[in-house]
Amino acid sequence: MAATPRFRFAPSPTGFFHVGGARTALFNWALARQSGGTFVLRIEDTDEARNRPEWTQGIIDALAWIGISADAPHFEGPHFQSGQIEAHLTAADRLFGSGHAYYCDMTHEDVERRAKFEGVTGYGGWSRNSGLGPGQGRVLRFRVPEGTTVVHDSVRGEVEFDNASIEDFVLVRGNGTPVFLLANVIDDAEMGITHVVRAEEHLPNTPKQQMIWEALGLDVPVWAHVPVLVNEQRKKLSKRRDKVALEQYRDEGFLADAMVNYLMTLGWSPGEDEIQPWSVIEEAFRLEDVNLSPAFFDIKKLTAFNGEYIRAMGTAELTEACRPWLPSEWGAEPFASMVPHIRERLKTLADAPGAVDFMYVDDPEVDEASWDKATKPEYALPMLRDVIGAYEGADWDHPTLKATMEGLMEGYGIKLGKASALTRVAVTGRSIGPPLFEALEVMGRDESLRRMRNALVRLEAETGD
Ligand code: GLU
Repeated sequence: MAATPRFRFAPSPTGFFHVGGARTALFNWALARQSGGTFVLRIEDTDEARNRPEWTQGIIDALAWIGISADAPHFEGPHFQSGQIEAHLTAADRLFGSGHAYYCDMTHEDVERRAKFEGVTGYGGWSRNSGLGPGQGRVLRFRVPEGTTVVHDSVRGEVEFDNASIEDFVLVRGNGTPVFLLANVIDDAEMGITHVVRAEEHLPNTPKQQMIWEALGLDVPVWAHVPVLVNEQRKKLSKRRDKVALEQYRDEGFLADAMVNYLMTLGWSPGEDEIQPWSVIEEAFRLEDVNLSPAFFDIKKLTAFNGEYIRAMGTAELTEACRPWLPSEWGAEPFASMVPHIRERLKTLADAPGAVDFMYVDDPEVDEASWDKATKPEYALPMLRDVIGAYEGADWDHPTLKATMEGLMEGYGIKLGKASALTRVAVTGRSIGPPLFEALEVMGRDESLRRMRNALVRLEAETGD
């Protein structure tokens, strides 16, 4: 019976969680869960500078945000690479013992001298046959055999490498520390990993790693290298150029479900309708269907996904989700009552406070250009007087408020948009915002009329009437 599959996600802590890493993690998560297997989290922290506990916690938190929870079934870890150094070195000894690796004393000066006097560049097998044992400053190199190495990749098919293009690579540095290539293989072997699904940038490492697996007499895992993420200019996403930190999207009010759904469409598609719940995606995802071409990380499309997810949320759920973005001093109302009216316009949760902030101040800041535009027409002053007069006695619900305004505007020969623009700027200080009559209803008669009367006083002063 085949063993249950064991997948892994092996990030090196960097202080932030790259969206590409999130996509790789989700691919592994889907595969582990649909196969009844395991998702192993391994923190590759052998680089001292990367060994910060808060960075590891950042990875765990980011994974939890996208639904890969350490408490969920199928999750194992975190394991730490730094705790496995003995195992890495034991494997290195075995490779030396079996003749698959050898010690090398070539120095930088040797390389330079040979390049200068013999015209030979690079390493070139300097110590390959010198029979050296371990010693101070000597590196351990893998003895790359002749021939070709064929990597069976579930995404790319068979990828063939000419071994002549791969020099005898280092396994253990002169200071006795194992290099990434070795540590990564030994950890995978020790953790019983059956499937290595990772970023395309590791493909060049793969023939070397496969040689190590084979030299140790181990079953080579299933490889899969998923395409890189690129920006609008088709350049690989980079932290200097692009917004790549998952945490940043989280903090800007993107929903985890929207982000997860969107990430799963990068290099793969759940079908014609790309908006699908995780339960569907998890079952449908197949490595064989992953695309080879670089995937465009399109923030506009992500934002559109986010809008769709926001619109699909229930009012109570959305109100709750917006809470962290609202100023802490704001009371629950009028925000909660406004949620159904602002839902359509929210691109992210972070847009929520700006859609209703005029309600939380006594006198909203007036956008002067909007004020000038709305108050310029001749009818502005008499119309505002009329609206106030009519609203004083009207039932305070939005259909009545709208109908009342419609009744008035006919006399002025203007359309509802113009008539309401004036009231909108009077009440909100701006020319754009949530649906006006609904906002008036939520704000209440007294407050709405108070603002309209203040605007009237200003307009009277400006026009001298
Ligand atoms: N630690 C490596 C990285 O973050 C991943 C190695 C792997 O997945 O094999 O790029």
